[in-house]
Amino acid sequence: MRLSRFFMPILKENPKEAEIVSHRLMLRTGMIRQQSQGIYSWLPLGKKVLDKVNAIIREEQNRSGAIELLMPTLQSAELWQESGRYDDYGKEMLRIKDRQERPMLYGPTNEEMITDIFRSYVKSYKNLPLNLYHIQLKFRDEIRPRFGTMRSREFLMKDAYSFDLTKEDAIHAYNRMFAAYLRTFSRMGLRAIPMRADTGPIGGNHSHEFIILADTGESEVFCHRDFVNFDIPAEDTNFEDVAGMQSIFDKWTSVYAATSEMHDEAAFDAIPEGERLSARGIEVGHIFYFGTKYSEPMGAKVQGPDGKEHPVHMGSYGIGPTRLVPAIIEASHDENGIVWPAAVAPFDAVLINMKAGDAVCDDACERLYTALRNAGKDPLYDDTDDRAGTKFATADLIGVPMQVIAGPRGLANGEVELKDRKTGARETLTVEAALNRLVG
Ligand code: ATP
Ligand code: MG
Repeated sequence: MRLSRFFMPILKENPKEAEIVSHRLMLRTGMIRQQSQGIYSWLPLGKKVLDKVNAIIREEQNRSGAIELLMPTLQSAELWQESGRYDDYGKEMLRIKDRQERPMLYGPTNEEMITDIFRSYVKSYKNLPLNLYHIQLKFRDEIRPRFGTMRSREFLMKDAYSFDLTKEDAIHAYNRMFAAYLRTFSRMGLRAIPMRADTGPIGGNHSHEFIILADTGESEVFCHRDFVNFDIPAEDTNFEDVAGMQSIFDKWTSVYAATSEMHDEAAFDAIPEGERLSARGIEVGHIFYFGTKYSEPMGAKVQGPDGKEHPVHMGSYGIGPTRLVPAIIEASHDENGIVWPAAVAPFDAVLINMKAGDAVCDDACERLYTALRNAGKDPLYDDTDDRAGTKFATADLIGVPMQVIAGPRGLANGEVELKDRKTGARETLTVEAALNRLVG
C-alpha cells in the first residue's frame, strides 16, 4: 500500500476523551472512529489488525474441531421467551420492533439461536460431538461504555457452542476450547491466564475467564506467579486426545487464579508471599459449561445409544476480537506508539522514502516495494513528501515491526537502513541484503 493512496487519518494531538493508552493510540493512528456512544467504525488500519486477530482465532477454532457458520445480529424475541431469558436480560438488551410490531432484539449472545439450529437438524448422538462458532457483532447496552473498543456497546464476538451427549463428553469439549484459547492468545503475543469465574446470566457451574494482566484492566485478579512459565500447547497438539486435553486443563488450573468475584482469601494467602500476584486484568475470553440449561427448556434432544432421548450438554465460549486489539496495545507499546507483535501487525514493514521526488530514492523504493509485494509481503510505502521527521514519527506511532529507511546518502553506496521497531536496533545493509532479510 502506498501511503499517498491509503486512508490513515493520523491525529497530531492526543484526543482528550481517551483515558487509557490503547484508546489514545487507536484514535491517534486512525484505527477507529466513534460513531455514537460505544459504537465504532474500524478504519482501514484498524480493520487490517482486526482481520489478523480474527484469522488467528479462526485457525485455532478450526484446529480444535469447531466449525464456522454465521448467524444474524437481529433475533426474534420468541426464542428468548422460550429459554426464559427475554425478561431476565434487562436493560443491556436492545429491543426493537419491526414494521409488523413483532418484538425483535439485537443479539447480545446466541445460545438460543444456536440451540434452535441444533434442534432443527440434529437428532442422534452419532452426529456428536458438534461445536459451531461464528464471529459476529453483538450489542449490549452497557451502562458505562468506555476505553474505546475495550468496552463498547456494539462489539465483535467469536462465540462457539458445543453439543455433547454426556457431561463427560462436554467436559472434553470444554478442555479442547481451553487449549485452543491458550494457543490463540499466545499467538497474538499475549499471556492470558485462565481464572475461575462467575457464570453470570449465562448460568452453569464450570467457567473460566481468560485474563491479560494490565494496569488499566477493569478486573481485579489474584494468581500464582507460576503462570508466567507454563507451556502453551504446541501446534501439533492432538485435540481428539481426551486424556491429553485433560492434562493441559489440569496443569493450567493447578495453581491459584481467580477474579475478585471468585476470590478465596485463605487459598491466596496459602501461596508463599513472593509468589502471589495481585493485579489488574482485562477479560479477553470466557468459557462456560452449562449442561442442559438451554437444551432442556428448548427441547434440544438427541437419541442416545440406549434408544432414549437425552437433552444435550452444552457449553459456550466467547472471545472479544474488538477488545483484543486494544488489549494487545495495552500489553505492547512504548512512548512513541504501538509496538505490534508481527502476527497481528497491520503491515509487515514500512518503507520510508526520505526524499520523495529524488530519482535515486524513488527508484530504489519502487524496486523494494515491488520486490516485497512479489514475495507475498504487505509493505506500507511512505511515498509522501512529508519531512523525514514526520515519517519516522508516523512509522513509530503505527508500530509496524520493521522499518526500511531509504535516503540519498545511503543509496549513494547502494545501502538502506533497517530499524527494528521493538528494540530500536538499526542496521545498514545493501538493498539486496535488506530485501533478503525482510523476505527470508
Ligand atoms: P465483561 O465482564 O467485561 O462485561 P462479559 O463477562 O459480560 O464481559 P461475556 O459474555 O463473557 O462478557 O463475553 C465474551 C467476551 O466478549 C468477553 O470475554 C470479552 O472479550 C467480549 N466482550 C464482552 N463485552 C464486551 C464489550 N462491551 N465490549 C467489547 N468486548 C466485550
Ligand atoms: Mg465474561
